Amino acid sequence: MTGAPITFQACSACRQHWYFERPFCPYCGQAGPATKASTGASTVVAAAVVHRSADPAFEPYEPFCIVLADLDCGLRVMGQADAGVSVGDRVTGAIVSRGGRDIIVFGGNAS
Ligand SMILES: [Zn+2]
Repeated sequence: MTGAPITFQACSACRQHWYFERPFCPYCGQAGPATKASTGASTVVAAAVVHRSADPAFEPYEPFCIVLADLDCGLRVMGQADAGVSVGDRVTGAIVSRGGRDIIVFGGNAS
């Protein structure tokens, strides 16, 4: 998938990492966590097909899947994917502008 990399934060003190950006480590409280970029390589762990989106901005992409995917770096994130994606599929995620928003979109096959 072409787009900006999915970023996450990591703590140099306790070595934990997490997805939602914060000014401190949610595990040990250390300030100034580092921001890192994921490769986007992931495994789909849940998928649901959306035939009619509640948001008209996503109508051009219907039908599409809402998926939960485990990034290879160990974080679970939600995003959109093409309809037909199944649990266990290897995909690559990136931040893509879709429907006027920057969202995670998964596509293709990750190695
Ligand atoms: Zn920490």
